[in-house]
Amino acid sequence: MANKGGVGKSTVSANLAAGLAAEGYRVGVADADIHGPNQSRFFGFVGEQIRLSKQGLPPKAFTHAELKYPVLVGSLAFMMERDDTPIVWRDAYKHDFMHHLIGSFDWGPLDYLVIDMPPGTGNELITLADMLEGHDVAALLATTPQEVALMDSIKAVRFCQERNLPLIGVVENMAGVTCPNCAEQFHLFPRAHLAQALADAGVESVAQIPLSLKLSTASDQGVPAILAEKNSPEALAFAPMVQACIKHT
Ligand code: ADP
Repeated sequence: MANKGGVGKSTVSANLAAGLAAEGYRVGVADADIHGPNQSRFFGFVGEQIRLSKQGLPPKAFTHAELKYPVLVGSLAFMMERDDTPIVWRDAYKHDFMHHLIGSFDWGPLDYLVIDMPPGTGNELITLADMLEGHDVAALLATTPQEVALMDSIKAVRFCQERNLPLIGVVENMAGVTCPNCAEQFHLFPRAHLAQALADAGVESVAQIPLSLKLSTASDQGVPAILAEKNSPEALAFAPMVQACIKHT
């Protein structure tokens, strides 16, 4: 989850799912970001569609040489005739969609279902938190280190705390850049108060992901960087986040 759009929540979700699958787990990705369903793109299924069968909606299976089991991807994008059609739904419809996303896809046996949430703490998150109450569920929060994004993220932390939703931690995305010429590392966002703000909110930083062309290129090419750029600093930056999720469960 993230309280802001564009901070890299879908990138983090896709790499988390691929990273868990690379550890040998059976993983699904449910794309709940109704207004920006990007998981189909991040796993290379642009323009592909699915049809309802007796077993329900078949998720798309992303295979890769590194994976024992494919990552199963369920997204609203597979039910849209065109990639560029905007979704204009009232809340009741969104509520039904969240139930279908989890309940109508034929996920089969899974070890992990990664849910890429819409930004914010609105209706979709409340619906999902209600649906999953009593299940083994935990949240991971994506943010940029900038104070304005972080302050919004703290609201999402408070949401989790109020709902007794375990929070694995915060993933700091776009946490630094490496100069391609001199290899010097620098920060784009001021991060002076980050550590203190997280400590005050009682939440841990579980990964720092750099801003990198490798990451955006991997997303555009439909193979999460954790697989496409295995052993690169970018891919390795995701590793503590994957391990934090495994440790939590
Ligand atoms: P959100 O789901 O929060 O809206 P996305 O994961 O879709 O954010 O990321 C927004 C855009 O930024 C995408 O084009 C994505 O490829 C790019 N992006 C996200 N994180 C990084 C990163 N660390 N380095 C480079 N590009 C990134």
